[in-house]
Amino acid sequence: MRFANDIRSAEDLQRVLRRIDGKGYKAYKALKGVYDLGDYLLVIDHVQGDPFASPTKMRILMDIRTCGVPEDIYRGRSRRIAFCDYLTREFSKNALKISRRRGTGNSGLIIMDRPGQEILERSTFVIKDGTIEARFEAGLPAHGRSILGNEAYNMLLKDLPKIVERSMYFRALDKQRVYEHVAVCEDADHIRHKLPELGLVSFIANGSILPRASGIDPRPLDKRVAVPFKSPKSMEIAVETLNHGTILGMGIKKGITLIVGGGYHGKSTLLNAIAMGVYNHIPGDGREFVVTDRNAIKVRAEDGRRVEKVDISGFIANLPMRKDTSAFCTENASGSTSQAANIVEAIEVGATVLLIDEDTSATNFMIRDHKMQELVPKDHEPITPFIDRVRELYENFGVSTILVMGGSGDYLEVADRVICMINYLPHDFTEKAKRIAEHYVGERKREIPTPMEKIVERIPLSDSFDPSRGRKAVKIKARDEHHIVFGNYEIDITALEQIVDINQTRALGDAIYYAVRYMDGRRTMREVIHEVMSDIENRGLDALSSTPNGHYAEFRGIDLAFAINRLRSLRVRQKRS
Ligand code: ADP
Ligand code: MG
Repeated sequence: MRFANDIRSAEDLQRVLRRIDGKGYKAYKALKGVYDLGDYLLVIDHVQGDPFASPTKMRILMDIRTCGVPEDIYRGRSRRIAFCDYLTREFSKNALKISRRRGTGNSGLIIMDRPGQEILERSTFVIKDGTIEARFEAGLPAHGRSILGNEAYNMLLKDLPKIVERSMYFRALDKQRVYEHVAVCEDADHIRHKLPELGLVSFIANGSILPRASGIDPRPLDKRVAVPFKSPKSMEIAVETLNHGTILGMGIKKGITLIVGGGYHGKSTLLNAIAMGVYNHIPGDGREFVVTDRNAIKVRAEDGRRVEKVDISGFIANLPMRKDTSAFCTENASGSTSQAANIVEAIEVGATVLLIDEDTSATNFMIRDHKMQELVPKDHEPITPFIDRVRELYENFGVSTILVMGGSGDYLEVADRVICMINYLPHDFTEKAKRIAEHYVGERKREIPTPMEKIVERIPLSDSFDPSRGRKAVKIKARDEHHIVFGNYEIDITALEQIVDINQTRALGDAIYYAVRYMDGRRTMREVIHEVMSDIENRGLDALSSTPNGHYAEFRGIDLAFAINRLRSLRVRQKRS
């Protein structure tokens, strides 16, 4: 293994702890280093400054053969990610159970971030070059500010080995559950991989449980009340999996899909499940085989956001005061302009599917009906509603749309298929919708001043990114799941509904800074994002940090662009050919 030169022993660790016992907290700095604890190494990377500061960063490094896991459990990307996710859950659970408060502040606590319903690539566990590495934090014990050497001894040389023993050795794990964890993740990836050849953008397995326990609890709704998903026969598709045989479910084809139905019949629930289908889910979640194209993005109205030189002229032109919408800038977008910008920015960086819910859309962006067309002539209406562009988005850009729309029948004319939710179950209403659309044809006029043929790409300018704050050259952190502190700015990503974990937000924050190295005044946003994502693909999330960091979780290129687009200092140049 690495560190061959200055590895200390467990006795060395004990000796240091005895020496600094009772001293001021700063003396803990002497612990920094590598210790051989027999089967594995303990690495203490960064020692906290006081018992209330963020805890000390540590790692366990173990030869994968010592851990005793059969290779087929972690062979290949899907399985490796799933196995590391499983270990993360075990380690965080056992750390919570076994470690305990041993003094002031966070003294004695051993902590690893606990994942939610999704199986994400994370930096808590890394398997590389035959070594398995766990990254976690521990609060070095003190009474007030004086070191409790004996408590530290118990924490590091008794609690910690017990946690490792129960979480990292294959013999201690529930084999059946480990296997199911990796098998589910592998099959979800397998289905996602097959979507394009099946002509699908999403697949929802029969029997899936889509509703969640509550608006703030992402676990499945109680089985006794949840209605399991069942595809209408006409949309049913069989997919072969590697571990779960043939699975039947509803296939949503490319193109324009409308989800209609009465209020409270499960439309938004279906759309949200589709949105979360860009991730894999743990066994028992209910959405294990709800699988969506990786580049599907939920877009919504987001008034108040800043917009930087986005060409939204396809949707909005001729604003009052002759404001230019082909390089639209605003510090405070309206509902409709924000939704237009969100869509254009998503397509700019390669979104393949737009997921839109009427609940979170600007009405005037979505529709303009016959009577309103009569009342307000087109030359006084800057907006070309989404209904008149949605087909072009598919035909000219290959971007599909899945749209929840219970409030306007005008969309029946532009949809390729119509799913009606009745009592939480989907029905294929495509034929019925076609007949109705044909019967009432001609009332509403399409409003397309000019065809929409291209998205103007933008080149982000590096000097508009300044991560410094006060005396700190780099100050970047996730304030919470939805807010990134970037230097003197705070980036609000609340509208990025597909973020499920604060560690994704942390990774996004650092990725913005990382991306600056590729901004050479020539690369477009899409190209910059591509460079960053291929570095992460090659080197893992570790690419984002110069020191080992256990606080990252995966994100997508479109998420990174989303965050960059909301940095209020961002400046770009449009690429006009
Ligand atoms: P809509 O968008 O059609 O108005 P929602 O999707 O918001 O409806 O769902 C309304 C309520 O029904 C929510 O509380 C949701 O959790 C619940 N619900 C949705 N789908 C199911 C289901 N399959 N089984 C049981 N309850 C469901
Ligand atoms: Mg709804």
